[in-house]
Amino acid sequence: MPAVRDLYEILGVAKDADTEDLKRAYRRRARELHPDQGGDEEGFKELTAAYEVLRNPQARANYDRYGDPRGPLGSAGGDPFAGFGDLGDLIETFFGGFGGRQTTRRDSRAGRDAMLDVTLTLEEAAAGLRHEVQTSVQRACEVCDGSGAAPGSGPVRCSTCGGSGAVQQVRNSVFGQVLTSGACPTCGGAGQTILDKCDACFGEGRRRVEETIAIDVPPGVDDGTRLRLAGRGEAGRNRGPTGDLYVRVRVRPHDVFTRDGDDLLCELRIPMAAAALGTQVRLPTLEGEEPFTVPAGTQSGDVLTVRRKGMPKLGGGGIQRGNLHVHCRVETPTRLSEEQRDLLRRLADERGEEIREHGEEKGLFGRLREAFGG
Ligand SMILES: [Zn+2]
Ligand SMILES: [Zn+2]
Repeated sequence: MPAVRDLYEILGVAKDADTEDLKRAYRRRARELHPDQGGDEEGFKELTAAYEVLRNPQARANYDRYGDPRGPLGSAGGDPFAGFGDLGDLIETFFGGFGGRQTTRRDSRAGRDAMLDVTLTLEEAAAGLRHEVQTSVQRACEVCDGSGAAPGSGPVRCSTCGGSGAVQQVRNSVFGQVLTSGACPTCGGAGQTILDKCDACFGEGRRRVEETIAIDVPPGVDDGTRLRLAGRGEAGRNRGPTGDLYVRVRVRPHDVFTRDGDDLLCELRIPMAAAALGTQVRLPTLEGEEPFTVPAGTQSGDVLTVRRKGMPKLGGGGIQRGNLHVHCRVETPTRLSEEQRDLLRRLADERGEEIREHGEEKGLFGRLREAFGG
């Protein structure tokens, strides 16, 4: 087993790094290593696994104390990620494994991976949903049960290679005669041929069919999340393994909320007097409007946090949820009537606030110019 590197070292952060430090370090390194950018997939997985551990306070505390995110009962000195929740699955879910899996499945008979896009509203991303999509996909032929041979017949041993799938050839080269071994040209290396092909699939063992695929999108997905549905891609030839279905999630921008990880942000405009006196408003949330208290003396730029009104954490079983951050914007009144201006002047006067209104200032300046003979 390769030596397990220190998780902080993998992320390139200090031991006392806070969650923001971790996030920044992860994003920076992830950009360099992301497999889609032609980066190092193993390195990327290692990085992601390290981040998953360190951003989880309990796992991080365990790791700091016992060297294992699972706590004192974890395997001493072993792989700190092994068995840690469904971390492996999580990484698979988010980042697929395009590179690794395809190389192990380069067999020409394996089914291809399929890719689908799903576009959701923010509310749908929060709630999760079953999405049904009509698509054209290769499925095992039901007439021949995927064998490619007509019913009642079956594949027979290839007469060219005698069933071994390989043929030897003598080649003349500059070094003299060379014996080479290659895949049998008749059966393509399968060792079997079909004499009586299935009419339905023309011997392919699979057929393209229109199919409705139901995709269960879990709550908490984000724009760019990629889900992998193992074995839901295209059927392989001649009962070869079925490919995987990748679902790329898109989340539409929302009119009210912007998203920051599991947290949501929204802006709340508050009239000046209401901000000063405090007020009750109806606050939009993902579940509809809710009563919300703006405390007296709220300043423009204040951020009020409503706990657990953000997005559900993906894979959190609906228990963990982010927060809603309400960015307050105090609105200074404009287009004042003369009476309103007077009220404000009286308020300022009462509070001992000195006001030099624009017109007055000009007057003063004018008077100064006069006094100095300008
Ligand atoms: Zn068939
Ligand atoms: Zn053959």
